[in-house]
Amino acid sequence: MKAIYAGSFDPVTLGHLDIIKRAAKIFDTIVVAVLENPNKNCLFTVEERKKHLEIVTSDIKNVEVASFQGLLADFAKEIEADVAIRGLRNAVDFACEQQMHLINGRLNKNIETVFLAADESHISLSSSAVKEVAVFGGNIDFMVPKEIIGFVQEKYMKRGV
Ligand code: ADP
Repeated sequence: MKAIYAGSFDPVTLGHLDIIKRAAKIFDTIVVAVLENPNKNCLFTVEERKKHLEIVTSDIKNVEVASFQGLLADFAKEIEADVAIRGLRNAVDFACEQQMHLINGRLNKNIETVFLAADESHISLSSSAVKEVAVFGGNIDFMVPKEIIGFVQEKYMKRGV
């Protein structure tokens, strides 16, 4: 079975990577799909985010990295995915994800959503938290995969913040 795990991944966190690794043990293929959202002001370009995901998943054989615009339901249909993976950190995530699941179900009846509960050590992690800490030069070692730390720091150095 083919699964899609979509998100902004701006940047990819240890929480995202944990979900990818666990999903890769359950499904034959995982397509990690970076959402190209022109309305969202992202720190990294889509190409950079794809590169980061490729680096951190290079040792997982059944993971592919892609990007898409528009609806997840449409992209899932295009790549013939059977399942959409979502990570759940807390009740707020659950409420959002439940709504999305219901809407996606109406848009693409062939896709089933599978939720994976976040690991205890990743519950407080989010891409926005990484950016909030990194902007002030704080330690992000426990938030993002080690290969990604330098990319985040470099971005803020270039911005001169
Ligand atoms: P979005 O643009 O939808 O916020 P994200 O890249 O932040 O995308 O998240 C993509 C998916 O990963 C969502 O299902 C989200 O709930 C899940 N996720 C985000 N952070 C974590 C985490 N720390 N642990 C587990 N799942 C997470």
